[in-house]
Amino acid sequence: MSLSQKLQERRLSAVPRGVATAFPVFAGHAQGAELWDVDGKRYIDFAGGIGVLNTGHRHPVVLEAVRRQLDAYIHTAFQVFAYEPYVALCERLNSLAPFTGEAKTILFSTGAECVENAVKLARAATRRTAVIAFSGAFHGRTALTMGLTGKVAPYKQGFGLSPPGIYHLPFPTDRGSSVEQVLDALELLFRADVAPADVAAIIIEPVQGEGGFRAAPVELLRGLRRICDQHGIVFIADEVQSGFARTGRMFAIQHSAVEPDLITVAKSLAAGLPLSGVIGRAKLMDAVEPGGLGGTYAGNPVACAAALAVLDVIEQEHLVERASVLGERATARLLKFQSRLSPPLITAVRGPGAMVAFDVVTKDGEPNPTAAKQITATALNEGLVLLTCGVYGNAIRLLFPLVIPDELFGEALDVLERVMLPVAPG
Ligand code: PMP
Repeated sequence: MSLSQKLQERRLSAVPRGVATAFPVFAGHAQGAELWDVDGKRYIDFAGGIGVLNTGHRHPVVLEAVRRQLDAYIHTAFQVFAYEPYVALCERLNSLAPFTGEAKTILFSTGAECVENAVKLARAATRRTAVIAFSGAFHGRTALTMGLTGKVAPYKQGFGLSPPGIYHLPFPTDRGSSVEQVLDALELLFRADVAPADVAAIIIEPVQGEGGFRAAPVELLRGLRRICDQHGIVFIADEVQSGFARTGRMFAIQHSAVEPDLITVAKSLAAGLPLSGVIGRAKLMDAVEPGGLGGTYAGNPVACAAALAVLDVIEQEHLVERASVLGERATARLLKFQSRLSPPLITAVRGPGAMVAFDVVTKDGEPNPTAAKQITATALNEGLVLLTCGVYGNAIRLLFPLVIPDELFGEALDVLERVMLPVAPG
């Protein structure tokens, strides 16, 4: 019995089923874009801890910053004794804010936590309650963010009713809906369910992550911005998965000219240390009275030090540009692969940048989650870690570290192609 198998037995009896693990493999050590399991098998990591490792595992610049911070202090609680890394990181994030005018930033620990707090800020600033989100969206697993998440199974089923005041619009292309139809549905919502004057915020992922790497059309973002301006609604862009160079821009919303009011960030911000934040227009960000926001661990100094190093690495290693290059390379290979097969096994190869995904389909073009699972399982055997996503679970997403060397990247794409061929229909 392998060490992973032994650990898996212990895990099954000690840890509840509710937290699912994609693979029965246990991590041993990791570096850059590679992971080794406890039995010494090596993998190329195209999951990046679910989009957390744009700068890779254990980047030396990040490690150095973390070590320096560990030697100084690990925790004081920002609410008790403030510390410079928190302030320096907020200054840095303010300078990156994808909107004009003065910005302020507040830090938390998880993606769900920053989304919760973005909603609190929007509610405090507008003195309104309702929030509008989208089908297929993923915003987290806490009570409020579970309500905002636009997918019932497995996230909402069995957990009772969502908090009141949350409404969902279809994300464009869901059941064939166009941008025009979505904006019509919003007008209808304003007439049938909730007055626009009661809506605090509209929250949208500029590129849906768990929902299948689906980019929100620019016309939709523009339409939402217009409606938010018209009714004094706060526009929240959830960039937890799409942020920090992944899409070939620092933030995905920058592919459009649309400026959000608040953006939520987490995941790749701190290269694996738990850190998240809300970056927003200064006036909005100051809407809450002192003491209304925060958290014991929120903006932990070690995580802040890591994040400052991450931002240095993104800049110094030109990861924004690198994301575009790697994304183009991956999509070109996948499109070539797609065109070789008739009927195609994969369709809808898409970006933007290195936020690459494709759909696995049956010979009739229907979603094929079984084949997608088969591909990720075989890829794992062949030493490539891949994740699925999407409303039908048939999309395969590539979340490779942006620091991956060219040769390793080529090797991974070879494996991907090799494991997909035997699954091809016909
Ligand atoms: N928002 C988005 C867009 C996400 O992708 C995720 C996590 N997949 C979250 C929020 C929640 O983040 P966390 O799991 O850190 O709470």
